[in-house]
Amino acid sequence: MSEELEALNTPVMRQYLEVKSQHPDGIVFFRMGDFYEMFLDDAKQAAVLLDITLTKRQNQIPMAGIPYHAMEGYIAKLISGGKKVVVCEQTKSDDPKAKIMSREVVRIVTPGTVVEDNLLSGYQNNYLSLFLAEKKFVYLAFADVSTAELVYFYYPASEHEKIKDTIQRFSPKELLYPESSLLPEFPKDSEIILTSLSPSFFPAKETKPIDTVVHVLDAYLQYNYRQHSFKFKAPRLIDESDFLGLDERTVSHLELVENQNNKNHTLFGVLNRCITSPGKRYLRQRILFPTRNPEMIRSHWDKIEILSGSKKERAIIKTSLAEMIDLERVLARFRGGKASPRDFRGIQKSIQAYEGIKSVLDSIGFSFSSLQKGILSFQKQMETRITDEELPVFLGNSPFLKKGYSADYDKASLAKEKGKDWILELEEKEKSNSGLSTLKIRYNKILGYFIEISRGQAKDAPSHFVKKQTLVTGERFTTPELEEMERAILEADEIIEAIEKKEFDFLVSLALENFSDFLHLASEIASLDYHLSLTECKEEFQWICPEIREDGNMILTESRHPVVEAFLPVGERFVPNSIELNPSEDAIAILTGPNMAGKSTYMRQVAIVQILFQMGSYIPAKSASLPIVDRIFTRIGSGDNLTTGESTFYVEMKETAYILSQYTKDSLIIFDEVGRGTSTYDGLSIAWAIIEFLSKDFPRAKTIFATHYHELTELEKGNGIFNLYLDTYEKEGEVLFLKKVKRGKSKQSFGIYVAKLAGIPEVVTSRAKNILSGLESKKREIKIKTEEPSLFGSLLEAPSSSLTQGEERILKKLKGLEINKIPPMEALQILEELNRWSKEKE
Ligand code: ATP
Repeated sequence: MSEELEALNTPVMRQYLEVKSQHPDGIVFFRMGDFYEMFLDDAKQAAVLLDITLTKRQNQIPMAGIPYHAMEGYIAKLISGGKKVVVCEQTKSDDPKAKIMSREVVRIVTPGTVVEDNLLSGYQNNYLSLFLAEKKFVYLAFADVSTAELVYFYYPASEHEKIKDTIQRFSPKELLYPESSLLPEFPKDSEIILTSLSPSFFPAKETKPIDTVVHVLDAYLQYNYRQHSFKFKAPRLIDESDFLGLDERTVSHLELVENQNNKNHTLFGVLNRCITSPGKRYLRQRILFPTRNPEMIRSHWDKIEILSGSKKERAIIKTSLAEMIDLERVLARFRGGKASPRDFRGIQKSIQAYEGIKSVLDSIGFSFSSLQKGILSFQKQMETRITDEELPVFLGNSPFLKKGYSADYDKASLAKEKGKDWILELEEKEKSNSGLSTLKIRYNKILGYFIEISRGQAKDAPSHFVKKQTLVTGERFTTPELEEMERAILEADEIIEAIEKKEFDFLVSLALENFSDFLHLASEIASLDYHLSLTECKEEFQWICPEIREDGNMILTESRHPVVEAFLPVGERFVPNSIELNPSEDAIAILTGPNMAGKSTYMRQVAIVQILFQMGSYIPAKSASLPIVDRIFTRIGSGDNLTTGESTFYVEMKETAYILSQYTKDSLIIFDEVGRGTSTYDGLSIAWAIIEFLSKDFPRAKTIFATHYHELTELEKGNGIFNLYLDTYEKEGEVLFLKKVKRGKSKQSFGIYVAKLAGIPEVVTSRAKNILSGLESKKREIKIKTEEPSLFGSLLEAPSSSLTQGEERILKKLKGLEINKIPPMEALQILEELNRWSKEKE
């Protein structure tokens, strides 16, 4: 036998191997005394992930350990690294002759099943997903163990893209699937943990799919938690047609909830004024799942309107909201056996805060549920039992119950308190009788109470002292009198512990009995917090209430991008822009304009405003009359997906193909550059054909197509296609981006100019200019339509003697400007003046 095998062939290691063989996909925390040890490959992985020392057991077996009391922090690190942790504890052996401790797995901690606060983020749901392929359909369930939410979808099995999209939109932490199933392919960098389930997790007999879902989730949680069982709200079937469809790419392109560069520069970041965690989670859900139901939108607006007129009341409500705890998650912890006495104080305060909020809301006519009977009676039960003093984090550290609630408890508490005095008196007595200055009475969990005397004085201990333990620093003793006191104190402790535990457990189970009432309360709070957030945004950014229209037309006047506007540098103003799209003549806008002109911002702004509208929010615009859209598609930029072997252009085409196969007449489609990743003529032809394809429908889907292929502007021919451009002003080689969208086509791309701004060396940019003018003269030769001369060119070039006084004034202004530094708004004013001038001249 090799030395390594020999080292493994001990009773403890055999016990370990048995546990590990049942849990090959988790890191096993194997309890040994005061440590959790990890062995073999687990130890190697943990040493890297947890930054702990890798040692060897018996010089052979890789081993790493962590102190038992620090386990939570280490588990948190492993879970956030996408690992599972199998906690294996020592238990008392039934067999008195057993050579080793018996051990048992007490919990499997997985990213999708945690309820502990330190493993969860307040503003995000923590979804556990189940993928179930049944005959021709795929069922997808998303359960949040920490909030008891359970929703599910079903799709024809052929709808791979939709299935993948939905999974990614929920971004579950863990996805369960039957070991016999094939899953859709996820990107390799996806952080979802995949867990395959053996048939033992499934019902023995055939059941309805939703019952199977619930059964499997229950079985999986039971398997992970061992002693505790969980309960979800009634499963809710999600009908996609109730919601505005946003695929994963759109969510990420529009930076709705995440931004790779700056965490706050997202729609969520701007809207989130929520005070409570349920509010934040609800806001996130509403951003990702805006509604298609006009009644729902109106009811959100009604709430915003009431709140907006009640500034003083809002301030009071906000103070009360800050008192509320995350009830959904506290109850989930109760179920997971992780309740703390302090949670009851949190619940008490939340109920009081809720009552306060309710009365304020009543006074302004905002409809809000009353507290349910179950909660009121629970409140009473807490009041009669729980002390008003500060509550301990763990039972036993300080009183939990009120004086006068239980005579036995009061008696034992008194004995415990007196006991402390007895001990002090005894210490004083023994010290003065013996004359030993170092004599002290102390306590620890193993020895109980003992008298400690320093090494130097120990030999003078009185004869009635009975030796208990010898230390390097001194000796420990007891006496019959001390033992007697200890018994009385410990007895009191036992009584207190038993009564506290009974009452605590009673309250925990009573809270769980009223589970659905509490969840209802939490959802009222979440929704209120959401509406308060939207109201604050409305007030701060002066948003307006749009109109809903049914003819499919979109009229958005002077709208702004809520996120870009919120983070503009001080002193700059966002230039508002308008758009009108309708399913017939003006359905497909070809948007041209130089780099940096604001095309991307404009298109995203139209999409985001539409999302805000369907979230039931007010919107950043002067006025708006909007249709309800079924889906928003975006094809914006793209990175290589090299890990899956897909080039930029391939990804671009795949995304475009997806859009073309999915859109309907009620969709809003945003194309930001299509066909750029290939040769000019290939790209142009593809873009051209796509636009033609979209224009052949009737009614047509509302589309904005941004492009640098100016040739595409030729498509405007009364077939639903029209041109928009972003205006610029150019003077002496400098370009001013006015950020104003106008009807018509842009003159130039100014790519070289932008390259210069970005720091491309002068030699390169001037050479580029030469090449460009060569190319352009060739273009002219083949008679591709040239641009009209600059509107104001004539003014700038005119001899000064021919100018009127007014003209001279304008010219002075223009010449004095450092074009790059003019704020767009000011530039607009100047241009308007110029416009007036040119009209007068005509
Ligand atoms: P490219 O073709 O190079 O991608 P683009 O035309 O898409 O450029 P954007 O990225 O939309 O240009 O905008 C350029 C910059 O101008 C951004 O930093 C943006 O914040 C700012 N900006 C865009 N639109 C406006 C606006 N309406 N008002 C004020 N600033 C704006």
